[in-house]
Formats: sequence, C-alpha cells, structure tokens
Amino acid sequence: MKAKKALGQNFLQDEGVIHNIVKIINPQAGEKIIEIGPGQGAITQYLQASGADLQLIELDHDLIPILQQQFAVHDNVTLHHMDALKLQLEGGPFKVVGNLPYNISSPLLISMLYQSTEVSQMIFMLQKEVVKRICATPGEKLFGRLSVMLQHRFECIGHLSIPPEAFIPRPKVDSQIVQLVTKKDPTNVPLPALEKLVKQAFAMRRKTIWNNLKKMVSLAQMEAVGIDPGQRAETISVAQYEQLTLLLEQAC
Ligand code: SAM
Repeated sequence: MKAKKALGQNFLQDEGVIHNIVKIINPQAGEKIIEIGPGQGAITQYLQASGADLQLIELDHDLIPILQQQFAVHDNVTLHHMDALKLQLEGGPFKVVGNLPYNISSPLLISMLYQSTEVSQMIFMLQKEVVKRICATPGEKLFGRLSVMLQHRFECIGHLSIPPEAFIPRPKVDSQIVQLVTKKDPTNVPLPALEKLVKQAFAMRRKTIWNNLKKMVSLAQMEAVGIDPGQRAETISVAQYEQLTLLLEQAC
C-alpha cells in the first residue's frame, strides 16, 4: 500500500524497534489499551497476542479492511474507524500508545492531557525534537508550553531514539519513544487557567516574564511564588506556574 503523507504514514519495519516499543508498553492480559494509528498492525499484533483489551483508532479508510481481516477475528480487539483527535475517553484508565502521525502529535497530547483522569500512561513514538520539548527542564532552551502542560500531569521519561531507517517510507527526522505516566496526586489546578497563563508567559520568549504577564499578574503575586520579574519564562518551574495559576484563581 502506498503511504499517505497527509496522514503521517511512516510504517515501522524494524522488528528490533517494534520489539523495544512493545517491551516499554509491557501489555498485560485484560489491560485496557488504546492504540492510535495501528497502520498495518506492526505493533498491534503483539498487543493483541498479549491478551490486552485492545481498541484501535485508525483514520485511513483503506487500512480498515486490512486491520479488520487481521484482527476482527480476535475477541480482545475492537476497531474504530475515526479521527483520534475526536476521541472521548470513558471507561478507563487506559494505556494510550502508538507510533503517532507527527502532524497530530501536539494536539493529541493536549487532548489526552485534558482527559488524563482516564489515562494511566501514554507511550508514543514521536519526532525526537518533540520528545525533547516534552521532557525539557527549566533553563533549557526547549522548555516551553508543552513541557509545562504535560509535566503538570505526567512524569515524562524519554526512551530510545529511532533512526529514519526503521520506517517505510523514511521520515526526514529522528524519532524517539516517550513514556508519560499519569501523576497519582497532581496539583489541583484548573487546566484552562494554567494553559492561558503559560501561553501568555511564553508569548514573547526574548522578553522577561514581567513583560509577558504584566496584564494578568501583579508584581506581588509573582514575588509570592518566588519569581523574579526579570526572569525569562523558560527559567520558571512547573510548580511555580501551578502556584501562580492558583493565586490568580483565588483572586478571581
Ligand atoms: N502503527 C503503524 C506503524 O507503526 O507502522 C503506523 C504508524 S503511522 C506513523 C501513523 C498511523 O496513524 C497511520 O496508520 C495513519 O493512517 C494513522 N492516522 C493518521 N492520522 C490519524 C488520526 N487523526 N486519527 C487516527 N489515526 C490516524
């Protein structure tokens, strides 16, 4: 089958890499797993064989008959022909996994973040640059909105890098596996408020945090959570963003 660029189709062909991903997913019999974009079933076959309770979410109508033929005979597999960005999770918690189409990775991660009470963990193959952004720590250049938002709810673990040769067709960039484990006791911050604050904080990266936030936050509020107004957004910790959001919510 000819790969469709618009659907981000880079099919895994390296058995060693597939084996490594499955090892990190560590599927268990009866465990609820959702695989986004099963493609031609490279990872799916091992998830199915583990006896996990598996739901497949695939958008490409040409792949549906292939997946149906391969997996519909198995009681533990349910196939959904749909857009993963429209997924409404219920009945979890689920392990959500997949070699993601890179064009939907950021919106999908944010969608899963908003539904994180239904997610136990996520294991995704992503563009290496995106994994670096997710796992970056304060002070690193790549620390930004995605890092703060995801680290607020998940422990982020970067796993092995995967070269383009592991796929057909070969992507132009390196890939990496990331594991995001839902925190048991995340700080109780309203996500839309945190997202609004963080978006504004990183609006102009070269400016100070005070310049970016002065329309939303007072100097006293900033100082109350230990932020120096002369700092840049990428030097402020996730905990400080959470505390500042809470202060703003209390002041409303
Ligand atoms: N899992 C397979 C593998 O590793 O070989 C395929 C991975 S390929 C990078 C991404 C898959 O996601 C493709 O099968 C593609 O059709 C599917 N896909 C693309 N956009 C999607 C969306 N919005 N919702 C669900 N599946 C999507």
